[in-house]
Amino acid sequence: MKTLKAAQRHDDGEPTGIWDYVSIRKRRGRPIGYCAGVPATTKEEVEERFGPNAPDDWDDEEGVWARDFLDMIDRNREKVEQFGHKYHDDGHDSKEAAEECYGQYLWDQRTTLHDPEEAHATSLDDVKGTKQTFECQADECEEVLLAPTVTMNIYLGAEFYYCPDHHDEDRIKERVMSYARGTSWQS
Ligand SMILES: [Zn+2]
Ligand SMILES: [Zn+2]
Repeated sequence: MKTLKAAQRHDDGEPTGIWDYVSIRKRRGRPIGYCAGVPATTKEEVEERFGPNAPDDWDDEEGVWARDFLDMIDRNREKVEQFGHKYHDDGHDSKEAAEECYGQYLWDQRTTLHDPEEAHATSLDDVKGTKQTFECQADECEEVLLAPTVTMNIYLGAEFYYCPDHHDEDRIKERVMSYARGTSWQS
């Protein structure tokens, strides 16, 4: 099981006042999201970071390891091009700032907004033949949706439902950011 939360760095058992957003497994934490530093975008960086787990033959076209790492390098290059300035490895000066940082990562890289008009059921005909309908998740709104208008690519996934009137970015971003506050568990 993994635990995701903001955690303080310790030095000789003493808290340092520096916070990262981390994934903890078997009592060992590693920074994730933007707190993890700029991702590796070259073979040399992969070798440096992954040590014995890095491919020992990059030209081995058949080698699953090499291919996986080359794909990762490609994905990382795209991320760095788009969000490079947000990656850092110097931590934050508060728990809240570390949570804000991970929330921003979830918003930038793990959240997809869909067209609320397409998901919105406006007549009985729209609902006919559908297995399930969903109510708009804004307070006291009873508009009906046929599909999520927001999906989050996280463990087990997360979906939100908002009608066209309530599908606004501020509301959705606040909801996504709230995922990074507190602690979550993943198995
Ligand atoms: Zn951070
Ligand atoms: Zn609504």
